[in-house]
Amino acid sequence: MTTNSTAAIHVTVLGSGTCVPSLTRSACAVLMTVGTSHLLFDIGPGSMRRLLEAGVHVQDLSHVFISHFHPDHTGELAPLIFANKYPDAERRRRPLTLMGGPGFRDFMARLEGVYGDWIRLADGMLPVVEAAPADGFSHTAEGWSVETMPVHHNPESVAFRVSMDQGPAVVYSGDTDYSENLVALAREADLLICEAARPDEDPVRGHLTPSLAGRMAAEAGARQLMLTHFYPDCENVDLVAQCRRTYAGPVLLARDLMSLEVT
Ligand SMILES: [Zn+2]
Ligand SMILES: [Zn+2]
Repeated sequence: MTTNSTAAIHVTVLGSGTCVPSLTRSACAVLMTVGTSHLLFDIGPGSMRRLLEAGVHVQDLSHVFISHFHPDHTGELAPLIFANKYPDAERRRRPLTLMGGPGFRDFMARLEGVYGDWIRLADGMLPVVEAAPADGFSHTAEGWSVETMPVHHNPESVAFRVSMDQGPAVVYSGDTDYSENLVALAREADLLICEAARPDEDPVRGHLTPSLAGRMAAEAGARQLMLTHFYPDCENVDLVAQCRRTYAGPVLLARDLMSLEVT
């Protein structure tokens, strides 16, 4: 049912910000709806409120993909699992699958060490999947699949590519510095959602700028580029102009609750 010409990935930005508290930008999270699956990429503080604003209940989420363990990407993971127990855990009708990079099982075991039963669901309802360290993995259900590749930020950092059978592909960078793996993963993607945490004139190691993100989008042949993960220093800068130094395709600047259909 998702293999026809109307195949689409519906993308909603839940958080376009960072660890810095902001009234307009929640921390990192992107929702992708594919068929009946609601996939969440990162779950920084404020994600659950934005999810409600986007019209999706926490018990409707099918997968959460964690790009790396920094709190601005994971801070609401424990509260999300806890929220699935209210009013009673029986309301969750299908598993909530969690996926992350190397060390993710240990990360979850440590969270459980702190929260115990508060973040345990019924048997089989909370599968934890850890990506292989070198080459990623894929998961196929309902005509979509997800691939991962390691990127340059933390040892566990991965980027994700969501592809529909004979349909569009969307790539989410997580946090990274310039990464040949990300270029490979984003090859001819219909949309590359890429962090550009710092403006061109003030880069930091382990993060991208608009022109670096544009360079990777150009090298990958990505059809469309969305920049996100903006520190406050980005707010009064012409980020599109900086991106234009390296990328000629359509550029979007993420805002919380911005949504688009990728076909
Ligand atoms: Zn980070
Ligand atoms: Zn980050």
